[in-house]
Amino acid sequence: MMPPGARSRGVAVLGSTGSIGTTALRVIARQAGRFHVAALTAFANSSLLSEQVAATGPAYVGLVSPNGTMPPASWRIGASSLVEAATREDVDIVLNAVVGAAGLDATLAALEAGKRVALANKETLVVAGELAEAACARSGGEIVPVDSEHSAILQCLGRRDRADVARLIITASGGPFRTWTADAIGGATLADALCHPTWSMGRKITVDSATLANKALEVIEAHFLFGLPYERIEVVVHPQSIVHSMVEFVDGSVLAQMGVPSMELPVLYALTHPERVRDDGVPRFDPVAHSPLTFERVRLDDFPALRLGLEAGRNGGAAPAVFNAANERAVALFLEGKMQLADIAASMDDALARLGSMSGRDKQALLAADAAARAHVTARAERR
Ligand code: NDP
Ligand code: MG
Repeated sequence: MMPPGARSRGVAVLGSTGSIGTTALRVIARQAGRFHVAALTAFANSSLLSEQVAATGPAYVGLVSPNGTMPPASWRIGASSLVEAATREDVDIVLNAVVGAAGLDATLAALEAGKRVALANKETLVVAGELAEAACARSGGEIVPVDSEHSAILQCLGRRDRADVARLIITASGGPFRTWTADAIGGATLADALCHPTWSMGRKITVDSATLANKALEVIEAHFLFGLPYERIEVVVHPQSIVHSMVEFVDGSVLAQMGVPSMELPVLYALTHPERVRDDGVPRFDPVAHSPLTFERVRLDDFPALRLGLEAGRNGGAAPAVFNAANERAVALFLEGKMQLADIAASMDDALARLGSMSGRDKQALLAADAAARAHVTARAERR
C-alpha cells in the first residue's frame, strides 16, 4: 500500500527498448500509483518505442537515430535527448539502461541535477567513476545499482558502515565457456558466445559474460559504488546464478542475497531502496528446486579479458576507460562477424599497452582515451 498522501514518482527510462528497459516498464506498470513513466528514450527502435509510448504516456520521448523513419513531431531526436530526459523537473529517478559509454553524459547530468540514478549502465562507472562520485558529492544525487551483483551487495550491507566490511565476493556464472579449454574458447563462434546458460540479456553484455569482461566491469563498478579497494573485492564462479553476491564482515560473518536469475527484483529494488514493496511479478525462490549450489575458483589464465580489466581497474586513471572502449569496439566487430572471440582480449591488451597510461582524469581526457582506444581497435582489425 502507498502511504497516504505519497505522490507517484516520475521515472525516465533511458534505453527503454532493451532487455533491462523492457523489464523496467513491466516493473513500473505493476507499481502504478507509486511510480509512473515520465520519459522514454531509445536508440533506433522507433516501432517498439511507439508501442511503449502508447502504453505508458510519457511527457517526453527521445530517439537518438531515426534511421530513415518519420518519428512523430513531438519526439526529440538526437543523442542530446538522453541528457534532456535525465534532467527534467518531472523526473525523480533516471533508470539508465543504455548500453555502453553512450550512457555517460546522462548519468553525470542526472547526478548533477540531484536525481537518483538507477544504474544498469555499468560502463558509466568504469569510464568515469571518480566523476560520478564527485557529482554525487556536489549535488546530493545518488546511484542505486541495477546490476544484480551490486544490488545483492547493497541489500547485504543494509545501513552498515563500510568499516565493518572485510570483503565483497562477487559471483559469476562463468558463462557458456566455464568448462571449455582455453583452445576451445579461442575457436568459439558467435552462436556459442550468445548462448548464456543462466541469463537472457542484450547481445553486448552476453558476449561480455562469455569473455568474463563483464566481471571486470563489475569489479570496477563495485569499487566505485562501495568505496572499497580492489584487494577487498573478489570474484567466485557460481554456475547456478542463485547467490547474486556476498559480503564478508570484519567478524567473519558472510551475508548473501539469493533469488532466481531474474532482473525483476534488482530493477524494482533500485527504484524503492531502501524500502521494500510487495511485487507478485518477482519470481519466487524454492531452495530445494534450485539445489545444489556450487562454487569454483575463477580461471584467470583462460579468461584474459577478466585479468586485463582487473589490472586496468587497479591502475586507474584512463586505463578503465581504455579497457571499456576497446572492449565495446571489439565486441561490436565480433557481433558483426569481423573479429574472432580471442581477438577481443588481444585488442584490449594492445590498446591498454599503448594507451592505458594516457594522462588526465577529467571528462575530456577520459573521452579522448575512449576515442583513441576505439580507433586503435578498429585499425588493428583492419590490418588483419
Ligand atoms: P540492450 O542491448 O538490450 O538494450 C540497450 C538499450 O540502449 C536499447 O534501448 C537501445 O536502443 C539503447 N541504446 C543502444 N545504444 C545506444 C546509444 N548509443 N545511445 C542511446 N541509446 C542506446 O542492453 P541491455 O538491456 O542488456 O543492457 C543495458 C545496460 O544494462 C548495459 O550497460 C548492461 O551491461 C547492463 N546490464 C544488463 C543486464 C541484463 O540483464 N540485460 C544485467 C545487468 C546489467 P535500441 O533498442 O533502439 O537499439
Ligand atoms: Mg551483473
